[in-house]
Amino acid sequence: MHPITIDGTTLYYIDKNYVLTESDLKDVPNYYKEGYETAAHNPRIRRVLCPYKIRASEGKLALCLHWNDGSELPALDKLIANNAAKETDFDDALLCETVNATCLKCGKDNIVTTPFVGLLSQAKRLRSHSTSSICPNCGDSRYAAHTEVLK
Ligand SMILES: [Zn+2]
Repeated sequence: MHPITIDGTTLYYIDKNYVLTESDLKDVPNYYKEGYETAAHNPRIRRVLCPYKIRASEGKLALCLHWNDGSELPALDKLIANNAAKETDFDDALLCETVNATCLKCGKDNIVTTPFVGLLSQAKRLRSHSTSSICPNCGDSRYAAHTEVLK
């Protein structure tokens, strides 16, 4: 895991092939195993653990960075491994969470990446990112806003 800085916040970038241990996942309240493992194999996603502190509660959140394209990620992985990544290398990444979303109309569950607000300045990132609120199964437009359907 490598510390990176985005918007003045330190996040821990998880190498693509790294398997999280029990100790990594201590105090990670939102860890969703199936979603997070599926995200690990997506070419437009890299996982990050994000320290947080809300009143008396602190820990890490299991989130991910999502790119529209992702073709730059193999090169970025190398920069990060050499501690040479700059904050601007993450300008095209949107902080997201992997969640299980259920469609209100057809009831089908899908694992999706949904934009995560609250940790980074996401407004500019959201404007340059493709999102959809359409159910991938039936096309209903009341679905969770997502950047990607993972499964
Ligand atoms: Zn549906």
